[in-house]
Amino acid sequence: MPEPTRLINDDHGLLAGELEKLWTGGEWLEGPVWVPGTRSVRFSDIPNNRILEFDRATGDTHVYRDDVEYTNGRTLDLDGRVVQCSHGRRAIEREVDGAVEVLVERWEGGRLNSPNDVIVASDGAIWFTDPPYGIQESGREGHPGVEEYGGCFVFRLDPASGIASPVITDLAHPNGLAFSPDEQLLYVTDTGLEGDAGHIRVYQSGTGEGRAFATPPGTADGLRIDAAGRVWTSAGEAVQVFSPDGELLLDLPVPEVVSNLCFGGPDGTELYLTASSSLYRVGTTTTAAVRPAR
Ligand code: MG
Repeated sequence: MPEPTRLINDDHGLLAGELEKLWTGGEWLEGPVWVPGTRSVRFSDIPNNRILEFDRATGDTHVYRDDVEYTNGRTLDLDGRVVQCSHGRRAIEREVDGAVEVLVERWEGGRLNSPNDVIVASDGAIWFTDPPYGIQESGREGHPGVEEYGGCFVFRLDPASGIASPVITDLAHPNGLAFSPDEQLLYVTDTGLEGDAGHIRVYQSGTGEGRAFATPPGTADGLRIDAAGRVWTSAGEAVQVFSPDGELLLDLPVPEVVSNLCFGGPDGTELYLTASSSLYRVGTTTTAAVRPAR
């Protein structure tokens, strides 16, 4: 029997236009970020150990860098520089024109597992998740290794001291993360919960006190927050949007499993999706949350 077609239910008017496939040919794409200076979307093709860039003006996608030590999630710091996760280096690093500077790779004497996703707060602190997907036996997404500090935590890297401290320690495999617009709340996905993959939890920022927020039907990996505080999340073969109260506002089917997403484009209203082998885009009626002024 054919699969029933899922209709897009956009009663809240969050979308503007159709979902477009921009490029295909990757193996497992992740870590999209809009780079304003080049008007491009930079993203990882983790198993192929390369970084790709979609040039919005030409519509072309090219290899930005090869042999990149299995990068995953990325974001921009307060100066607009790319900060990204490296499975291979087991580190958070800053990358400028191909030059990589490691920002953190250890906690209390043990190496990190394989940082997965990263965000930068308005005070310049770098927050990141550290599940073990890049040190698994297969070597598909990094170099096989062991968990050295004995957990999978969410860390905050203090910009002044350069020291990382665990903030959240009660998740199995913390993965995507994003702040509410006022940075009072931190949303984190957990892709390691038995029988309940795709769980999104929400924490009082800076504390380990969290609660269940939403459980999309497919795995929630990367997520982003818009200017109204809505949560845009990967949800298996879909993007779902939740209100800050946890109400499902939009269910957008995507032909492939979505790993992550980012807002971008000249006016910030375009949503780019990394989904398995392909990069997609859909117009929206919102933009990413702006960091609060300091
Ligand atoms: Mg991820």
